[in-house]
Amino acid sequence: MPVFEAKVESSPVGEGRRVFELFLYLGMAAIIVLIILNAKRDSLDKILQRGELVVITRNGPTTYYEGLDGKTGLEYDLAEQFAEYLGVDLRIIVSENLSDMIPMLNGDQADFIAAGLAVTEARKALVRFTPAYQEITQQLIYYRKGKKRPRAIDDIIGGKLEVVASSSFDERLRELHNEHPELSWKTSDGSDVEKLLQQIVSGKIDYTIVDSNEFELHRRFYPGLNVAFDISEPQQLAWAFRTDQTDNTLYQRAADFFAEIRENGTLTALLERHYGYAREFKPVETTLFLAHAQERLPPYQYMFIDAAEKNGFDWRLLAAVSYQESHWVTNAVSPTGVRGIMMITEKTAGQLGVLNRLDARESISAGARYLKRLHGRIPDDIEEPDRTWMTLAAYNVGFGHLEDARKITESQGGDPDKWQDVRKYLPLLSEKKWHRKTKHGYARGWEPVVYVRNIRSYYDILVWMDERENQQNSQSPRPDPKTIAPQTL
Ligand code: GLU
Repeated sequence: MPVFEAKVESSPVGEGRRVFELFLYLGMAAIIVLIILNAKRDSLDKILQRGELVVITRNGPTTYYEGLDGKTGLEYDLAEQFAEYLGVDLRIIVSENLSDMIPMLNGDQADFIAAGLAVTEARKALVRFTPAYQEITQQLIYYRKGKKRPRAIDDIIGGKLEVVASSSFDERLRELHNEHPELSWKTSDGSDVEKLLQQIVSGKIDYTIVDSNEFELHRRFYPGLNVAFDISEPQQLAWAFRTDQTDNTLYQRAADFFAEIRENGTLTALLERHYGYAREFKPVETTLFLAHAQERLPPYQYMFIDAAEKNGFDWRLLAAVSYQESHWVTNAVSPTGVRGIMMITEKTAGQLGVLNRLDARESISAGARYLKRLHGRIPDDIEEPDRTWMTLAAYNVGFGHLEDARKITESQGGDPDKWQDVRKYLPLLSEKKWHRKTKHGYARGWEPVVYVRNIRSYYDILVWMDERENQQNSQSPRPDPKTIAPQTL
């Protein structure tokens, strides 16, 4: 007879304990096997299993911010596309300081850093960079008013130079210090480029260093600031991964992702989307805009707020449209008979029941309702923010012409649902060769392109002004970079 059975007969209590012990051992063995398997699982597998990609970034116009249409920014958009490419969700961790990012990554708090980091020699020892997605230069920034433009390092010796701590700028200055031992500067942790630019304007410091891509966006808010000279050779921006050479899987997928989006034009389109409209905006336009925002906007602000709320818009968008239309002049009249602060045509005024186009409140209310109507007519497939840009283009050139341009876009292999593509073909409406074949004929097709571009920048500036004012009112000692980051339509 088997021993087991004999024991069963002899002691039922002991048998129960044995079975329990057996399960306990089996359970423990299973846990150990799972732990070993998990430890062996590579970085990509872990993410797929978790269903989530965790990315460190920073708040700012070139990286990540809250826009009209939710979260956006070049780094955010790239990371989101990469998460989609892997088939997982994206979780963002915002780091306040550059100095915290690499320790956070190496402390296993995230999968990589996507924060507009420059590939530098010092960093290469600590992290592994993907192929670059953008090339920039570091630029020395100074305040133009009454100052001679510095042209070389020797011209800034003795001036107050301050840069963000742990930045590529600090690293560059250390290199320069070897050739220019008299060069001195301060670094500030917990500070960002935006704050340092403000300090130049307020006279607290003389110079700072900013990446060219960031200055391209920031210069619209500070028309007095200018580039003195490039202080570095071209540098690459890239994502940073842990230097774990034994496990290449996640890194390799990121490298493949960048190769793919470079190849299929997605990267160029994203760069254009985030920088294109700001590139052509002239500093003089900002100067005038800021002056007008102080002198002319206040009496109408509550009307914009009211009309925007009723029609589901951001009031700053409505105000930006109005500025582009009339420079906030209520009795503006164009040679074609378009009138008022929102420049409504007689026909539209009739349709919208406007009695007096020169009455600011009536004009703003009609403009908002008209925009809403156009927004509703844009085909459903067109997603935000492109939908808003097309609405603005239709407001300017007419819905029919916009449709014609979308057809041309499609016939030329472009995407008629993407503003980036449509705006390339809109100017063709002024050429006979093209408008001959369209339903609505000739239009000054380049106008809506400039129109939308300007409104986007006016909007960015209004958001920036508005948020800054809110901060001053709440007397927060240190502005949260998230809320002062300009927003994109
Ligand atoms: N590109 C800079 C760096 O790599 C960061 C830019 C910034 O902090 O604004 O350090």
